[in-house]
Amino acid sequence: MIERRAVGQVKEITSLANPVVKDIRALAMKKFRDQQNAFMAEGLKLVIDALDLGWTINTLVFAKSGKGNAAVEKVAARTVAAGGLVLQVTEKVLAAITRRGNPQMVVGVFEQRWTALKDIRPKGDDVYVALDRVRDPGNLGTVLRTVDAVGAKGVILIGDTTDPFSVETVRATMGSIFAVPVARATEEQFLAWRKGFPGMVAGTHLKGAVDYRSVPYAGKPVLLLMGNEQQGLPDALAACCDRLVRIPQAGRADSLNLAVATGVMLFEVRRDALVIEDRA
Ligand code: SAM
Repeated sequence: MIERRAVGQVKEITSLANPVVKDIRALAMKKFRDQQNAFMAEGLKLVIDALDLGWTINTLVFAKSGKGNAAVEKVAARTVAAGGLVLQVTEKVLAAITRRGNPQMVVGVFEQRWTALKDIRPKGDDVYVALDRVRDPGNLGTVLRTVDAVGAKGVILIGDTTDPFSVETVRATMGSIFAVPVARATEEQFLAWRKGFPGMVAGTHLKGAVDYRSVPYAGKPVLLLMGNEQQGLPDALAACCDRLVRIPQAGRADSLNLAVATGVMLFEVRRDALVIEDRA
């Protein structure tokens, strides 16, 4: 049962014409996400993770079938306690909000959160990833998930990039959007910030002369700089790197997918820091 405090505040909605539903559906558009400074995350686990990590929830939407589900009702109570709105909707409304035939039972609308570039102050063996003009939401989401998985500290988006708060990107992060700080910068802002970077900037390049496995990454902050899917790293960014490394390939493929290359690099850079732990 929803806690007493939440009971009176759950609105039931059955119509797609409801203005709140219209506003949530409009979050599919970047312009509207930016206007509202909001975005949508699907699934109970993601919403719980986000609340646990202190993200601000504006609205919780849950399907009628979630009524009576203890976990859903707990999240509803947390949303009300945080000053958010709770909507109980029909499956049809939820499918329209998520644009999916078989939607998750729960959707949360959260405030966007960006980290200021000036607040990224690497120390110790911190690892960051900078992505130049990343275009593909699946690639960005997968990179954020991998950055989270290896314990790297954050991602810097350089130039005109895909939106980390799009539905596709958030889905691909599998919740890591809430765990990984994301900053954005123009190329000029990035190059200025890079001058103060206290460790090694390793760029990945198909023309890199150095095998990525031959570089000592441990014991200092590392910034991995990854190029755009079509064009790779532009000259100005390649020139700011301490090392330009390459992942050797066999076969006919010209290059690796951006997210795969980032994953390969991250596991090498973090090799000494990662151990199999008994999580039980
Ligand atoms: N046509 C692009 C080019 O000429 O660079 C291909 C870009 S690739 C799809 C996207 C990014 O992934 C590259 O800019 C680089 O950062 C990284 N990458 C992919 N394969 C790589 C490899 N074998 N060695 C180093 N970096 C690689």
